[in-house]
Amino acid sequence: MYKVNENYLKIQGNYLFSTIAKKVQEFSEQNPDKEVIRLGIGDVTQPLAPVLVNALQEAVQEMASADTFHGYAPDLGYEFLRSEIAKNDYQSRGCQISAEEIFVSDGAKCDCGNIQEIFSTDNKIAVCDPVYPVYVDTNVMAGRTGKYDAVIQGYEGVIYMPCMAENDFVPEFPKEVPDMIYLCYPNNPTGAVITKEQLQEWVDYAQKVGAVILYDAAYEAYIASDEIPHSIYECEGAKSCAIEFHSFSKNAGFTGVRLGYTVVPKELKCGGVSLHDLWARRHGTKYNGAPYIVQKAGAAVYTKEGKAQIKNQISYYMENASMILEGLKQAGYQVYGGVNAPYIWLKTPGRMSSWEFFDELLKNANVVGTPGSGFGPHGEGYFRLTAFGTHENTKKALERIARM
Ligand code: PLP
Repeated sequence: MYKVNENYLKIQGNYLFSTIAKKVQEFSEQNPDKEVIRLGIGDVTQPLAPVLVNALQEAVQEMASADTFHGYAPDLGYEFLRSEIAKNDYQSRGCQISAEEIFVSDGAKCDCGNIQEIFSTDNKIAVCDPVYPVYVDTNVMAGRTGKYDAVIQGYEGVIYMPCMAENDFVPEFPKEVPDMIYLCYPNNPTGAVITKEQLQEWVDYAQKVGAVILYDAAYEAYIASDEIPHSIYECEGAKSCAIEFHSFSKNAGFTGVRLGYTVVPKELKCGGVSLHDLWARRHGTKYNGAPYIVQKAGAAVYTKEGKAQIKNQISYYMENASMILEGLKQAGYQVYGGVNAPYIWLKTPGRMSSWEFFDELLKNANVVGTPGSGFGPHGEGYFRLTAFGTHENTKKALERIARM
């Protein structure tokens, strides 16, 4: 009799978003006259910028003619896109990353989920708490953890690093030494950022203990301050201890188009083995390349008009973020994030739990957010709102919260 991968049986159901959906549906059925505003979504709402739509249309036209048709894309991505990424996202910021070190993919979720495959299952992972769940769940599936422990609300064998207001949502070095360290800044869900000095300390630590840092920079485009690093490769020594993930989802609205990339520097070696070679082998074996038309749209992101149009879109969302931050502060809430990130992380008032606050907000303001406890035990007592709504809805939601 065949057997299933028993590691999958350890995974806890993702009740967070299904519970939210259920509660909202019940509320709407009982209160059909109430208009519910969703500020819990992590998806963008603005349409693709015109320059991207043009690039897509032109690429589709190319596909209609035998002499400009494109079939399978190169495994690691088209050179025209990889060189733009290297130039604009790295070399222009003083990071010596070349086009050959960039692997184009269909998004950061797959890459930060799949990357663990090239590492031993004996490795110990460290993650922030609260955390984007993909890092943990994919390691559970791979058998790199023990069972779920309901008491600690986490998996045995995983090093959880608490991120709270007390440490500005940047973890301290764990007591137990990890092999693989997941960091994500600007952070989902806390909206926190890491300074260059703090990130340099993590790079130095990883080098000292012989760990690899898996750095998720999916929200890099929201960084407005010069003090905040856009890439881990701005830190000295990072090329020999870090892999970085990027997404076109939140900077350019590709959530439904799908495009991302991962940087694996050539000098990143584990006991003499090149991780770049391993990831190239994995990518070439299991992935057949992001579509030509999508990569063409990706390249349009780096044109002059592309940069301008995308900047406007990010400003649009960040105006929402400011509106939420200011509105909540005036209403007496303790708020974090929302300055260099599209997420606002607020402390629930009184001693209310994350879910109690969810219910209050839904009932009294008809606004939906995400309970912090859904991202890990240290998210308890916090609540996430996102800046990805429309101005109109965000404004209306804030007026309602103020009246609460
Ligand atoms: N990484 C983080 C931290 C995210 O929050 C998300 C999406 O919400 C992703 C990665 C996924 O990005 P993509 O749409 O490129 O798969």
